[in-house]
Amino acid sequence: MFVFQQQVISKPDPIAKHGAAKHEDALALASTRKHLDFLLANARKSKSKPGRETKGQPQDEGKKVVSKPEFKEHFIQIDERKKEMLAALIGFCTGSNTCRLEQPKCIVIHFDAIGAGLNALYRAFSYVELPRWRKVTPARPNSVNVSSHFGIARDGETWQFVPLDIVSVHAVGYMHNSISFELVAKRARDITGAQIEKLVDMVAWLCQQYPSIEYVFGHDESYKMRDYFAKEGVYKTNPLYGAWAKGDPGAGVMERVRKRLAEKYGIKKKPMVSAKPGQSD
Ligand SMILES: [Zn+2]
Repeated sequence: MFVFQQQVISKPDPIAKHGAAKHEDALALASTRKHLDFLLANARKSKSKPGRETKGQPQDEGKKVVSKPEFKEHFIQIDERKKEMLAALIGFCTGSNTCRLEQPKCIVIHFDAIGAGLNALYRAFSYVELPRWRKVTPARPNSVNVSSHFGIARDGETWQFVPLDIVSVHAVGYMHNSISFELVAKRARDITGAQIEKLVDMVAWLCQQYPSIEYVFGHDESYKMRDYFAKEGVYKTNPLYGAWAKGDPGAGVMERVRKRLAEKYGIKKKPMVSAKPGQSD
């Protein structure tokens, strides 16, 4: 949901709009500059009284205000040991040893390829380290587990797993500057309209909360368009630990997301066009 803020009419033109006739006598007596200044000040004061044209501020002109969508906080535990592991992983990629997420630039969309629900996602993210069966890239400094900031179920129910000031482990090269979403779905075609709508509401709200966000893209695009993102200064990683090909969520999903963001909220973030299937760079 959103409303349009109205523009304040605050152009200072007090005398003209204050009923010049009424002040004829007073103006006649305004023989000194001091007196005229006094009248001007009073006219300004009466214009700024509440109940007149006082909705919003001039800089709000045309800006859409997005209501906070409904979601529940189900934070996974991030203790000191996990924070250190996260910081080491980010440090390895960017040279800056911190697990803090400040001024995110990107929102990255995934689907979980399991489709078992938010509880299952919460359990999967809860472990400090990756399960033994998951292959850990040899160059990776540790085996800190994957995670996502948000998960969205098939009916649109949304849980937050990671606070927005801490990184999540979801896309190589973008963890340090992105907020992540996991759509609960085994395959792209399982993603529902309710999920897309909720995702679009969440993305629009986050873009409002963080004006630093310039990019909204899919995990697959994080690999296919990595050269573009590197040029933009968004993709940053250690050469020994680069992004690898991913299929989620796919061009069809990202096209729906981009279309609805533009239609519903007038939001167009980079890249404007979805990566084509098979595109490698
Ligand atoms: Zn993914």
